Amino acid sequence: MTINVRGYAAPSVKTSLAPYQFERRDMRSDDVVIEILYCGICHTDLHSVNNDWGVSMFPIVPGHEIIGQVESVGSAVTRFKTGDHVGVGCMVDSCQKCEACNQGLEQYCKEGPTLTYNSIDRHDKMHTFGGYSEKIIVREKFVLRISDCLDLKGAGPLLCAGITTWSPLRHWRVREGTNVGVIGLGGLGHMALKLAKGLGANVTLFSRSPGKKKDARRLGADNVVISTDTGQMASVKGKFDLIIDTVPYTHDINQYLPSLSINGTLVFVGLLGNLEPTLNTVPLILGRRSVSGSAIGGIAETQELLDFCGEHGITADIEMIKIHDINEAYKRMLKSDVKYRFVIDIASLKS
Ligand code: NAP
Ligand code: ZN
Ligand code: ZN
Repeated sequence: MTINVRGYAAPSVKTSLAPYQFERRDMRSDDVVIEILYCGICHTDLHSVNNDWGVSMFPIVPGHEIIGQVESVGSAVTRFKTGDHVGVGCMVDSCQKCEACNQGLEQYCKEGPTLTYNSIDRHDKMHTFGGYSEKIIVREKFVLRISDCLDLKGAGPLLCAGITTWSPLRHWRVREGTNVGVIGLGGLGHMALKLAKGLGANVTLFSRSPGKKKDARRLGADNVVISTDTGQMASVKGKFDLIIDTVPYTHDINQYLPSLSINGTLVFVGLLGNLEPTLNTVPLILGRRSVSGSAIGGIAETQELLDFCGEHGITADIEMIKIHDINEAYKRMLKSDVKYRFVIDIASLKS
């Protein structure tokens, strides 16, 4: 039996989001049914509604920073029970047998993971819909435990913004004394500052926005470099072991490469597409520097992050909104006017 659920959807490309009712798939024995309490708003939601990557299937119910409470569980579920607080991020399934899945890298599943929204369920071929809705049904393996120490309102953004910056910090072995740069202070950027600081790194924010300086320091930056100021850019030449670039749109990365140390890496997590202007290889060759990319993180790694955040008291800085203010929130996100993640109070769907 499918269940009927209320949510908000974009009916077609670049349209405003509006109330939408839809069917969620049949529950299977290894499924958890979750009543959604809060859902973060990621810039990916906006890219998807605008079909920036040419892969959007409408209508889209966005949302992949989901916090909720278990309503019921299938007969084969062992790790969760009714009433537990849980989270769901960007993926709800994967093949579970390829090399990537076997290594806990479900985000790089050879068959492609089933995404929380804008994807097709790999078993019953139904369209997946995200967290701007009352309920979601998710395979147990892709449901995350939320520590009692975490404030539920600020925990949702850990499931995308958090893990997307945590995964490169861990992959490039960031620890006490590592010099980390973060480009862009939005949802991902502010999590990157908090998490890099939590790991003991020396953290610098690159931003176009001088007005964000004070907040950046509060969020964990030891230093702020205004990227349009050539003098400030020159002052950090050769400094960073790792730079995490969270900027969503085309921008000139050549200006950042000289600030990498020898063997340093700039990792893209924001821009999905071509570089403009083209990449200048001179600083790469004359310093064995690398440019890389990274997508979210695996399920085990996401649980590791949630547990780390529980121990260190780390959650996102959020602005809670009602769901009918979603279109205004998108406009503000496009202007980089978010401090530093919008979260939807899903109770507002019912009012
Ligand atoms: P966001 O909250 O809108 O923040 C982006 C920040 O980038 C802005 O606050 C701004 O910071 C800076 N910025 C924006 N436009 C810019 C431009 N044209 N040039 C230079 N800087 C600009 O976005 P988000 O939710 O953090 O997401 C960031 C990107 O990551 C999106 O493209 C999203 O789709 C992507 N993403 C990727 C993954 C993954 O798995 N790799 C996961 C989640 C999200 P300043 O004002 O400080 O300059
Ligand atoms: Zn996201
Ligand atoms: Zn796989």
